[in-house]
Amino acid sequence: MKTAVTDWIRPEILASSAYHVANADNLIKLDAMENPYRWDESHVEAWLQRLRHAAVNRYPDPQANAVKNHLRAVMSIPEEFPLLLGNGSDELIQLLMLGIHAPNRAILSVEPSFVMYRLLAQLLGLNYIGVPLQSPDFSLDLPAILSAIETHQPALIFLAYPNNPTGNLFDAQAIHQILAISSGIVVIDEAYAPFTEATFLSQLKIYPNLLVMRTLSKLGLAGLRLGLLTGATEWLHQFEKLRLPYNINVLTQLSVSYALDNYQVLQQQTQCIREDRARLIADLRQIHDVLQVWDSEANFVLFKVAHARAVFEQLRAAGILIKCLDGSHPQLADCLRVTVGTPEEIRIFLQALERIIA
Ligand code: PMP
Repeated sequence: MKTAVTDWIRPEILASSAYHVANADNLIKLDAMENPYRWDESHVEAWLQRLRHAAVNRYPDPQANAVKNHLRAVMSIPEEFPLLLGNGSDELIQLLMLGIHAPNRAILSVEPSFVMYRLLAQLLGLNYIGVPLQSPDFSLDLPAILSAIETHQPALIFLAYPNNPTGNLFDAQAIHQILAISSGIVVIDEAYAPFTEATFLSQLKIYPNLLVMRTLSKLGLAGLRLGLLTGATEWLHQFEKLRLPYNINVLTQLSVSYALDNYQVLQQQTQCIREDRARLIADLRQIHDVLQVWDSEANFVLFKVAHARAVFEQLRAAGILIKCLDGSHPQLADCLRVTVGTPEEIRIFLQALERIIA
């Protein structure tokens, strides 16, 4: 007898759509907050030399200890806080949610923010609470958040710092209050740490319920997929049990070690991106028909134009892929997000935009 898929798959999965990734073939890719710079030939050669030693017939180091030591050093993470590694930080978000999974358990974040918090919570059938950010600056609505914490007692709170897709840093004092009144975990997602000075790493000693999450994706290693979580041993010890053995493959381990041995190259690139970000914001503000451009502490810029979806489509037809956020959230009506690419990519983007919206 043939059984219907709908009889066996959980209803929350049947009701969801898969995470959509736009096709970027032959387009200037400014949609996904990647670092636009490839390594030069000498680095590619030296990296490939390292890979020669990869024993692909063996499982990788299950603890990825060499990688952890590098990460600790470049991110100045004190020894007392263990590291939990994920195949991208997306995997860590999922793993955290699996750890607290129970009927009616709540997860809280703000809206608009990184969509995976909501998507993964929904897929797991968790009770997701999205507290709206304030208009027009996307700041935290602290009274609303504190009251939601009191009502729902979330097991997990996710705050992206800086926030995606809005690019701003939330008020640190407000986050301190959230940490102080939450009995569950507060995850500060510092995916965009390479582009700002702000961090909550130094607060780990103060708040036992604080976890800080980072990724190497935005630094320039998106293809390697490596995310990390750090915080009190008490929590990490439990989540470590959920990590699948060997989740960080041998090519990633060797490549990350090589890249972090050459950390200054990545730092120079992120410094260029920060400088180009300032120019991009200033140039967008010069374009008369751009209605609003938000400041950014990340490697992307959020801006608003009339008929954003049509502008997005025309940019794509002109060979440039950015992100259209129109329709994804009421506060993002007519909003577009562009990653800070190379100066040449930005020049082509700005020229096309000006031509399209003039
Ligand atoms: N957190 C935030 C805030 C993000 O914007 C992203 C990616 N866009 C991630 C986490 C996930 O990054 P990755 O899985 O590449 O580590």
